Amino acid sequence: MEERKIVTSVLVYSYDELPEHYKLLVDEAKRVTKDAYAPYSKFQVGAAVLLENDEILSATNQENAAYPSGMCAERVTMFYANSKYPNLPPKALAIATFADGDFLDEPITPCGACRQVLLETELRYGVNINVLLYGKRGVYLLSSAKSLLPLSFDGSLLK
Ligand SMILES: [Zn+2]
Repeated sequence: MEERKIVTSVLVYSYDELPEHYKLLVDEAKRVTKDAYAPYSKFQVGAAVLLENDEILSATNQENAAYPSGMCAERVTMFYANSKYPNLPPKALAIATFADGDFLDEPITPCGACRQVLLETELRYGVNINVLLYGKRGVYLLSSAKSLLPLSFDGSLLK
């Protein structure tokens, strides 16, 4: 038996320390939280993606009375970007959550399904997506979505 360790490195910034283009991305993720359709959870999530052409697209979580029919903000955003610009790789994705009248103190992290979609997007375009997770007490910056999903399953395993 051997033990193998998987290490994920997270850079923790204060908002003010972020590079200007990432502040803009975080600002957009925060801005759109007001547009979330979250009547059941009251957990309003916004996501903003920065594309290779420096355009930013954003979207929010879309809930449904039949809960599994809803969709997280991260996946709505990535599918929107990949549909609108199928040939433009994303460079970064920011996520923010507004609940109980304020943004969360600690960064919100994507669910497993969203991590899988982000990984697929990285592999599709052959890029790393910087992931910014906004919290009032700090912003996590991960260099790639893959680092959020160790021991992941991807298309290479289907060959
Ligand atoms: Zn999700």
